[in-house]
Amino acid sequence: MQSIRMMRSVASRVPASVSARRLLSTQYKPTSWSEILDRFSQVLFLTDIWRGIWLTAEVVSKPKVTINYPFEKGPISPRFRGEHALRRYPNGEERCIACKLCEAVCPAQAITIEAEQRADGSRKTTRYDIDMTKCIYCGYCQEACPVDAIVEGPNYEFSAETHEELLYDKEKLLANGDKWEVAIAKNLAAEHHYR
Ligand code: SF4
Ligand code: SF4
Repeated sequence: MQSIRMMRSVASRVPASVSARRLLSTQYKPTSWSEILDRFSQVLFLTDIWRGIWLTAEVVSKPKVTINYPFEKGPISPRFRGEHALRRYPNGEERCIACKLCEAVCPAQAITIEAEQRADGSRKTTRYDIDMTKCIYCGYCQEACPVDAIVEGPNYEFSAETHEELLYDKEKLLANGDKWEVAIAKNLAAEHHYR
């Protein structure tokens, strides 16, 4: 109400024709000839469509940033921490000496080891389990191991449907080691300066 009263008092002081013209000039901005020509050329020459086609051609001619996974795979750092593996020496002997440093250092308490003494006095594991559902892939077990027996390999494709499938035992870990030994040895050799 107050604003209407103010407008009326202002309008009463200004001649009617002048105030109407001023109102029109502030509210309605006339379209300029250049704007009209711009719009006309856009409609006539389909400039938006040609711009879209040009952009598409530009993007198509650029190198691809995606890969066709799983048929194509990207490079992986030698420091990648993937699925665990227990390694052997070239003669087939297990590297692990059952020192249990990996079990002690594991912050997730995912590793369980039982050990026994061999005839020659050295130790070997009778049980080496990793609960992969507890593991946080910190890599401490690998860092702690004095003989590079337990490692996190380059494999990242080991999803499973059940909890039990992710409870790895010694046989599974040794099989992983046998399968990935070439890649693991290459990565360890590439990184040995920094360890
Ligand atoms: S990567 Fe870390 S959390 Fe996983 S088993 Fe090794 S020490 Fe434990
Ligand atoms: S894997 Fe390495 S750190 Fe773990 S018990 Fe065996 S030798 Fe020790």
